[in-house]
Amino acid sequence: MASVTLKKINKVYEGKQAFHALHDVDLDIKDGEFVVFVGPSGCGKSTLLRVIAGLEDISGGDLLIADERVNDKTPKERGIGMVFQSYALYPHMSVRENMEFGLKLAKHDKADIDKRVMEAARGLQLDTLLDRKPKELSGGQRQRVAIGRAIVREPQVFLFDEPLSNLDAALRVKMRIQIAQLHSELKNTMIYVTHDQVEAMTLANKIVVLSAGRIEQVGAPLHLYHHPANKFVAGFIGSPKMNFLSVACTGTDNGVQIEFEGHGASVTRQASPDLKGQTLSLGVRPEHLTLDGSGDFFIESKVMVVEHLGDQAMLYMEREGEDGPLVVVVDGENAPARGDTVTVGVPNDRIHLFDANDQALPA
Ligand code: ATP
Repeated sequence: MASVTLKKINKVYEGKQAFHALHDVDLDIKDGEFVVFVGPSGCGKSTLLRVIAGLEDISGGDLLIADERVNDKTPKERGIGMVFQSYALYPHMSVRENMEFGLKLAKHDKADIDKRVMEAARGLQLDTLLDRKPKELSGGQRQRVAIGRAIVREPQVFLFDEPLSNLDAALRVKMRIQIAQLHSELKNTMIYVTHDQVEAMTLANKIVVLSAGRIEQVGAPLHLYHHPANKFVAGFIGSPKMNFLSVACTGTDNGVQIEFEGHGASVTRQASPDLKGQTLSLGVRPEHLTLDGSGDFFIESKVMVVEHLGDQAMLYMEREGEDGPLVVVVDGENAPARGDTVTVGVPNDRIHLFDANDQALPA
């Protein structure tokens, strides 16, 4: 097990059109933590993981694993196990041979190899499949072999690059739970890249939100959900996405006074007096809007589309926010119908406020 420390890591892909993919990334990953990298496509998640693995060289900064600088070490010397989206199994080898391969290369003795492979196979329910070839396995079984192959080498740190994205929805859930169990048993440091909000929220001790090669915020999943540091994180974490409305700041006495289409509200936030007169962005999550008359100010609007999801329904309103129709999540049993006009309540304590630089006003 090991900590992973990144100090001002930069990555420039050289070539005809050099590309600066990571900018001054500072990050402390503690021994045994499960850290998930999220962010939009192209933000640098895989690059960051590959830099840690040693599959990409570092253009600037220092990378420490277990307090030792490893910039110039090969992937093998870093004590890392990596699991890819594509599984990357050897097709001509059996499950057993795939799992043994790295240990044989590292010249472990046969008894040790057998013991490690059997233990990992049992833990991942692969013990009855050891003589099959990868093509005789389901996607989920193949991914378990890829994980098993990493486990047997007892790496200090596990890296996962979107390991579940080739699996169907039901299998993803099963494998997600298995990975969570694996972490609680092995207690290794794990670093995981995903596009999937649910994977990030459920697996992570700590989520790292990236945008354009920079870290936007690092924190526990619920901390990011409740206290996004800026508008980017607010819009990225949470599904469906947070609604944003432009509001006027009318005062800063004992909190922030805002006005929205004739409605006034006072929100408990720290703010400097020069905010008065400026336009702020009010963020509120679809699941925090109400239709039951509760709230601190109200928006009357017509329901344009209703999406029934079972226990919940999503309403898309005629009223536009900053980037699309206002979205409200309601109880599926009592959802209004398309064309109904409803009064949407905005509770004060669910409001996020962002300044002209998209930074959250501190509580
Ligand atoms: P995705 O979610 O789509 O997989 P990502 O966040 O993992 O994206 P990266 O694959 O890390 O993103 O890529 C980050 C940026 O670096 C992208 O703009 C990409 O085009 C660029 N990039 C990646 N590999 C190279 C390369 N070998 N040469 C030049 N640019 C590259």
